[in-house]
Amino acid sequence: MLGEGDSVTMFSKEIGIDLGTANVLIYMKDKGLVINEPAMIAMDARTGEPAAFGEEAYQMIGRAPENIEMIRPMRHGNIADFGKAQMLLSHFLQQALGKLARPRVTVCCKADTTRVEQSVIRQVLTQAGVRQVIIENESKVSALGAGIDISKPAGNMIVDLGAGTTDASVLSMGDIVSFETTDIGGLHFDQCIILHIRKKHNVYIGERTAEQVKKEIGLVQMNGEKPSAMNVHGSDLATGLPKTIEVTAEEIHRALRVPISKIVETAKDALEQIPPELAADITQRGIILTGGGALLPGMDNLLSEHLNVPVFIAENPLTCIAEGTGLLLLDTMSKTMSRIN
Ligand code: ADP
Ligand code: MG
Repeated sequence: MLGEGDSVTMFSKEIGIDLGTANVLIYMKDKGLVINEPAMIAMDARTGEPAAFGEEAYQMIGRAPENIEMIRPMRHGNIADFGKAQMLLSHFLQQALGKLARPRVTVCCKADTTRVEQSVIRQVLTQAGVRQVIIENESKVSALGAGIDISKPAGNMIVDLGAGTTDASVLSMGDIVSFETTDIGGLHFDQCIILHIRKKHNVYIGERTAEQVKKEIGLVQMNGEKPSAMNVHGSDLATGLPKTIEVTAEEIHRALRVPISKIVETAKDALEQIPPELAADITQRGIILTGGGALLPGMDNLLSEHLNVPVFIAENPLTCIAEGTGLLLLDTMSKTMSRIN
């Protein structure tokens, strides 16, 4: 067996990547989480060159001049813009590892990712300077990151509430037994908030403001402990002038009701497809929520009420996939795989 420092990592770095629609996280063996930034790139249309990456680009949303185009290279969990995804990953890899490193990367993708989509991920990473790409199933890795042992003949269910999709998976003996996904996620919530404020208050707000409203007063059920209203700044649609309005948690709750019900349906569909023994396991063990949407107060309660099983939020819902890749890297690859396969 290889000892500490004996492995191939002496010659190349080993890292794990969570390539999300909203966020890119890089986990490095020995160092932990080294990158946790928005999956966003600001392109200067005049020069065709990137103007900013990650957090710096995110801060520019709605504030940049016309020649700056804000791009999310990932859409609904897949690579939508090959060139920009490569630029973004090259930038983050260089930031984390320096110029010359040619890392070995473990990256996650969803259970419904096609071979073609997987091959696009491989190509993007290879062109971004990666020496070897290992693709892992995201649900399995997030279970690992959330501290669940999925190797046993027992049912476990994970619902990942990401920005571009919501994925519900039931796992047993290291494999996916049932998987359902919907294109409804955090980004769609933000759009619903923009639309609602436009219709009800005749005010246009930007994407970042909408996300802030969701995080500050967004509630899945009307009994949370968050503030019940906040001031929101936008542009008056009639005059074009700046306008501040008061927005209540109640109206945001109503604006999010339809997309949230779609999420409940998706989880229900995944649960309905499994054999009764596994359903009994999930009744006992509960469902684990991961992804940023798990932080919306009341999401756990609502799912629990509709699915009739306990629901728990992972300890670190936003980082648990990256941490799961970290656990894979800590062990030798083969040893860990025999544990989860
Ligand atoms: P992805 O994996 O698709 O990149 P993440 O799991 O990183 O998505 O979650 C990002 C999404 O979670 C974003 O839409 C963000 O607005 C949302 N989010 C993050 N924190 C919160 C919060 N406290 N309350 C509600 N939504 C949140
Ligand atoms: Mg994700």
